[in-house]
Amino acid sequence: MSESTVLKTIGIRLNLSKVQKTQELEPLFESFRIGINWSLREIETRYQKFIAEYLPLPENEKADGMCAECNKEKPLRFTRNGNKYCLSCAARMYSEYTVRKEIYGARERTVDKDLKNIVEIPNKTHYDSLFSQAYAMWKSYNAWRNKRLFQKEYLEDELNEYEDKLLLDTAYDIRRKEADLKRGNPEMNWKEIKRVTQTKVFKDFTDDEKKEIRRLYEQIQDLNRLRRPIHFPDLQECRTVKMNAGFVTWEDKKLHLTLWSRKPQQIDYFGGEYLNQFIPKMEADNQVYCNLSKKDGKYYLMYPLEIKVKQPPDIKDCETFVAMFSPGKAGLIGYDRDGCMDSVTWFPTGDLLFAKRHFKEKRAEIASRKSLEEKMRRIRKRKKKIRRQGGIESRHVSTFNHHLTHDMIECLIELSDKP
Ligand SMILES: [Zn+2]
Repeated sequence: MSESTVLKTIGIRLNLSKVQKTQELEPLFESFRIGINWSLREIETRYQKFIAEYLPLPENEKADGMCAECNKEKPLRFTRNGNKYCLSCAARMYSEYTVRKEIYGARERTVDKDLKNIVEIPNKTHYDSLFSQAYAMWKSYNAWRNKRLFQKEYLEDELNEYEDKLLLDTAYDIRRKEADLKRGNPEMNWKEIKRVTQTKVFKDFTDDEKKEIRRLYEQIQDLNRLRRPIHFPDLQECRTVKMNAGFVTWEDKKLHLTLWSRKPQQIDYFGGEYLNQFIPKMEADNQVYCNLSKKDGKYYLMYPLEIKVKQPPDIKDCETFVAMFSPGKAGLIGYDRDGCMDSVTWFPTGDLLFAKRHFKEKRAEIASRKSLEEKMRRIRKRKKKIRRQGGIESRHVSTFNHHLTHDMIECLIELSDKP
């Protein structure tokens, strides 16, 4: 067995003097807060401009062709003013590199009112860390926003194309009646409102129809939730500051950090006894990206340490596969030893997308299936059943994941001797 390394992060609580705290750490964290918030909005502005200018090509027009920008044969994904563009040319408008260049310059300053006007940090290297932190935040916000958008459009299509208009209208009607009733009786709780409304509306429907109306009702409710505006990220407090490699050094068990001012300075820390075992390793590393983090008014240096573990195969002899996951499918992308993509296999995962709603519907169904007398008699039994459904839901999800990984591994073994 060969050895490989894993990363373990050690939190070192800093023992700061008052001056270090008020003149170094505090202004640094506050500048990061202001700078990150400003950068987030700058990135978003460019992204909105991108959305306004470029339209995604419809599925049937997506094909390989000549990109109007880079003039290369590429998969074409977007259109603007009748021209077609590849993904990387279109998305360049809001790429990390472009925005970085535009808001504080890659080398020289390119704009007047830029990040350096917004926050003044004596040590210029911090701008790099600040910006990449902001970009990572924006990216994960954008991924979440797009996922919501995808789900919203999916539900809208489902409801628009739903054929039995009577059932659909009834579901909308229930929602409207509930809202009216609540408006007229604000003191009434929602459970009671639902009971009153649904008993009235449901009396003309069969059990199967009721079940379907409830399903539609849940979908409408989900859709309303997805239509609510979401908040753009805005830090009230910055809790993490990424430190450049070289800003953290160890010498003779002493820790030196480059913080607000340009020069490194020695910082005391707590936990000396416990940390002694790691210090030789940290002194040997010395070019490591660390985070500074703030929690309950205390500051910590989060130091990632490489620790050796045994591991069977040598990665150099292996063929590379990358697994990617989107809301509707998972993909396994294979590369040959020269790094060229040579296989793509898709696995559907759409089943999981709405698993949560499916099980919620199931629980609601059990809760309201029986007549009143039966309800009293079997209430305990049914509560148990609902609880069991919760278990079924998490089992369903973990079984699904289990099958998915199993299928992916089977596929890997088929595709390669040494994946
Ligand atoms: Zn292009």
